[in-house]
Amino acid sequence: MYRDELENHLNQLLDIPRFQDYCPNGLQVEGRCEIHTVVSGVTASLDLLQAALEAKADAVLVHHGYFWRGEDMRITGIKKRRIALLMNHQINLFAYHLPLDAHSQFGNNAQLGKKLGFVENGRFGGQDIMMQGELKVSMSLAALGDQISQTLLRRPMIIGDPDKTIQRIAWCTGSAQNYFDAAILQNVDAYLTGEISEQNVHAARESGVAFIAAGHHATERYGVQALGNHIAQEFGIQHQFIDIENPV
Ligand SMILES: [Zn+2]
Repeated sequence: MYRDELENHLNQLLDIPRFQDYCPNGLQVEGRCEIHTVVSGVTASLDLLQAALEAKADAVLVHHGYFWRGEDMRITGIKKRRIALLMNHQINLFAYHLPLDAHSQFGNNAQLGKKLGFVENGRFGGQDIMMQGELKVSMSLAALGDQISQTLLRRPMIIGDPDKTIQRIAWCTGSAQNYFDAAILQNVDAYLTGEISEQNVHAARESGVAFIAAGHHATERYGVQALGNHIAQEFGIQHQFIDIENPV
């Protein structure tokens, strides 16, 4: 398929004009016009790009691309090496940040909820990105931690009483620890996100709402995979997700 066709499809599907984001969404680096093979990954790191090159990808699809607000705008050092690899090999880079977190079907939050058995019954927070809902089967905080470990293949950091029963939960993938206060106001038993900050520990202890830090990378693997599988089915192109291990 043609690159322009793919870009239009993804931009419309993810409704990118709806979001105020910290980076441009859509085609970030232009490569060849025709796309047969797409590699997806969480972050457009050099390791992912090299793996995509080996896989003969025409396009790379990621959640974390380039050109973040406030960063050094020069194309030097790490950024030069990444962009040079893409341009030297005519590989397109597509990046979708907040629109991919939020999408009701292919989004990181929707996909993570599905994986962990959370049933969404509402949204909250800025731009309606965060989800809240209930566990299909309520369980203790300790049991939920075990289930998350087994599903995400990474042990979460948990602040809270292990014996507390968890029924209502709010969640947001990635680094959404700053939304913990908003989650506490939703009257949930636990809040799950990727990363944790020092002050979250105190807020968890004092509110009684458990905090689960399940990994920024680990919680954001699933949206881009679902989106890649969708375009493979829809357009008959090859798609492969490549997981570049990241402990954070
Ligand atoms: Zn992220």
